[in-house]
Amino acid sequence: MSATAAPSRRVNVRTPEVMERVQAEVETHYRSHLVETIRTQGSLVQIGNTTVRLARDFGFCYGVERAIDLAYAARRVFADKRVFLLGEIIHNPEVNRQLTEMGIISIPISQQEEECAKLNNDDVVIVPAFGAETKLMKIISERGCMVVDTTCGDVMSVWKRVRNYAKTGFTSIIHGKASHEETRATSSRALGDSGNGQYLVILTLADVDYICEYIHQGGDKEAFYERFKGADAYSPGFDPDIHLKQVGVANQTTMLKSETEEIQRRLQAAVEKRDGVGSKNFQVFDTICGATQERQDSLFGLLQQPLDVLLVVGGYNSSNTTHLVEIGEQQLPTFFIRTAECLTSLEEIVHFDLHLKAEKTSYSGKLASTEPVMIGITAGASCPNNLIEDALVRVFGLRGIDEATVRAAVGL
Ligand code: SF4
Repeated sequence: MSATAAPSRRVNVRTPEVMERVQAEVETHYRSHLVETIRTQGSLVQIGNTTVRLARDFGFCYGVERAIDLAYAARRVFADKRVFLLGEIIHNPEVNRQLTEMGIISIPISQQEEECAKLNNDDVVIVPAFGAETKLMKIISERGCMVVDTTCGDVMSVWKRVRNYAKTGFTSIIHGKASHEETRATSSRALGDSGNGQYLVILTLADVDYICEYIHQGGDKEAFYERFKGADAYSPGFDPDIHLKQVGVANQTTMLKSETEEIQRRLQAAVEKRDGVGSKNFQVFDTICGATQERQDSLFGLLQQPLDVLLVVGGYNSSNTTHLVEIGEQQLPTFFIRTAECLTSLEEIVHFDLHLKAEKTSYSGKLASTEPVMIGITAGASCPNNLIEDALVRVFGLRGIDEATVRAAVGL
């Protein structure tokens, strides 16, 4: 095949024959019969003085399942071709490791423009569930690559919304992390088809308060640029004196719902304070996805039960998982663990500290108590059930209850 560039081709790898085999493979890698059984029995296992409660909803969401299926299908359909992945398919290191072992080549974010420019029309590129920036999609298209696009439909709904803001002259205020793949992809769509649209990415309530003050009483433009510099947090040519006049809010799909709602409320109040109640200069559309919301709501439900400790299983760079940890931390000792191996012993837990932004080891007597212990377990949308099973089995194992006993307790 020639290396000459030609327009990219979106390829359909979801043929019934391929998908049948892919789903069997995916189930082998990520499924847990034990976890599924526990779910059907009320999400609770009690053996002796150890009780584990699972959240009602946790783990893989529909978007993640689809992305993984498509990545596996791409590898199978294009067995003789180079198959590349833009960054990570989802934010779970175990899943990404599995794809690497299957020969899928991940291109790190920092090298994507440079590396994609070297691809040709015999190469396959997988776009992850978060989507990809328009400039990257353009390069891939120009190189004539075959594209397997796993972008989640919920992410595309956000794109539609911010494109619409751009079309009507509104600035998109995006609640999210500017460096996150999904938010980068969304920001690029907020430029609109003309490329002249405007956006500003805000992350914290302190950010929104700063913007609110600027909205109703103006501010120091240079200080504004300084505050939001880095990671493309605002669009080229963004002028806060001009581009905060008409604002529309959207959010990364995986943010903390309560925080997003508060941000929307404060921004609306600021615009109305400036332009009058019911001003048409403010629009909002909640773009938190259903799966994120379900997992957060389920955790709130779990936290209404008596628990001594909460384990949240998942990749440390997973946004929706991080927010589950934030919810848990407000109520009880919560440990964000990547895998079961993080439970070194009953007293020693290796976990990610959101405040330090680093993994650390903590010593807790909670699991070691000889009194009855109640442990809650949940996981974000990017965590497969087999990792949740590992954590559950490990907890019981450390408490002196072996896996066979756990299985027998639920009738397996
Ligand atoms: S977390 Fe939501 S937006 Fe992300 S892949 Fe899952 S369903 Fe889609």
